[in-house]
Amino acid sequence: MIDLAVLKGSSFVVLGLARSGLATVRALSAAGIDCVAWDDNAASREAATRLGVPVVEPASIGWSGVAALVISPGIPSHLPKPHPVAAAARAAGKKIVCDIELLARAQPKAGFVGITGTNGKSTTTALIGHILVEAGRRCEVGGNIGRGALDLAPLGPSGIYVLELSSYQLELLDSFRANVAVWLNITPDHIDRHGDMAGYVAAKENIFARQRPGDCAVIGIDDRPSHAVYDRMAARSGIAAVPVALERPVAGGVSFRAGMLIDADGYRVDFSDVPTLPGDHNAQNAACAWAACRWLDVPREKIVAGLKSYPGLPHRQERVASVGQVIYVNDSKATNADATARALSSYRDIYWILGGQAKEGGVAPLAPWFDRIRHAFLIGEATELFASQLEGKLAYSRCGDLKSALDAAHQRALREAHGAAVVLLSPACASWDQWKSYEHRGDAFRAMARALPGAESLGRAA
Ligand code: ADP
Repeated sequence: MIDLAVLKGSSFVVLGLARSGLATVRALSAAGIDCVAWDDNAASREAATRLGVPVVEPASIGWSGVAALVISPGIPSHLPKPHPVAAAARAAGKKIVCDIELLARAQPKAGFVGITGTNGKSTTTALIGHILVEAGRRCEVGGNIGRGALDLAPLGPSGIYVLELSSYQLELLDSFRANVAVWLNITPDHIDRHGDMAGYVAAKENIFARQRPGDCAVIGIDDRPSHAVYDRMAARSGIAAVPVALERPVAGGVSFRAGMLIDADGYRVDFSDVPTLPGDHNAQNAACAWAACRWLDVPREKIVAGLKSYPGLPHRQERVASVGQVIYVNDSKATNADATARALSSYRDIYWILGGQAKEGGVAPLAPWFDRIRHAFLIGEATELFASQLEGKLAYSRCGDLKSALDAAHQRALREAHGAAVVLLSPACASWDQWKSYEHRGDAFRAMARALPGAESLGRAA
């Protein structure tokens, strides 16, 4: 837990008592700092009460003497409509921050690597953390991934916090400075919270806001708005702006071409045999991780070793089992067509399990990858919609549930595929019709695949 003694003498209001909020009240209480808390959910309020933190109705919160409102990033403080507690804090002239800001204030001597982007944040954060740990560096990984920021261990001057930062968190920072800021990509998302695309870009650009000469900005430049961000950062004096691009050379930066990662000085790494980072999207993540770790002076051979030993994250193209040459891949995190497109583009000879609660547009946008698919196995509420979208384009079966789909895919792959093949759960759908969450669905798939006759487990044990 982070020691917040540095904040003694101030008092705080904490809004939102899930993972990061509870970690915040725990850390504030442990440091003997006054705080009151609120959550709209009664069970969450009870959790705070159990920790001895006073829970106060929004209308009864007294703001005099309060240093700041610490808000859970998922709760709107501005758009589409501020939560009443956020509105009251603003009316009282109080700062609104998130837990990452408190971490930054409490650990001013530590190094900070921040990672943002519309897609790939968790993967790149976990990858950088893994490379640093394997290289023997003291680091803690958190933020939007894994543990709440204030649950991390105190590191002091020789340590590095590697933090996944969402646009919501980035809006709530005031003094946080990223020594290395990684910007992967940006496509329209979360517009309800940011007003428009310009607002979304501005929120994310806050990752560079307090960088100083000597700091580094790693920026994926493959989409147009990100390229504009790079141009702005390259013009800032003293900041090392490192561009990252796929399939083309990039002066002074890192590129990925024909299976090779290529550094600014021409140093090449064969990246074609890293099964835990399949696809061009992961090449972008790996190239950004490479640039960040180089800036942190990790020797090249250690970065190569870290890239190659990266275990992957659960539910993101996670290789869970094999039966002969058939690999079983859990991509349960792919809850929309865009994410599923990444997985389909990464393999050939695919036995594809899809369905659940469909998103707008269904699977129609995935047609460019249909020639990679041997057969589709439909599950859940989306079955009839997807059947109509696949009709005449792709052979499919209606399977009802995941177990039946996996059994059918397994049988068919063993019967038909005479070489390497992939049984892929990449649902392009939310999970809530049949599961509690995408994690619940993915965990079930992993267990079922590993229990198939002749299956050997791959990857992590979980
Ligand atoms: P995030 O934390 O930003 O949601 P993740 O690392 O959890 O990202 O990856 C989620 C999904 O996003 C992956 O399963 C993949 O479909 C897609 N993805 C990952 N990295 C990228 C990238 N660099 N560009 C585009 N899509 C990506």
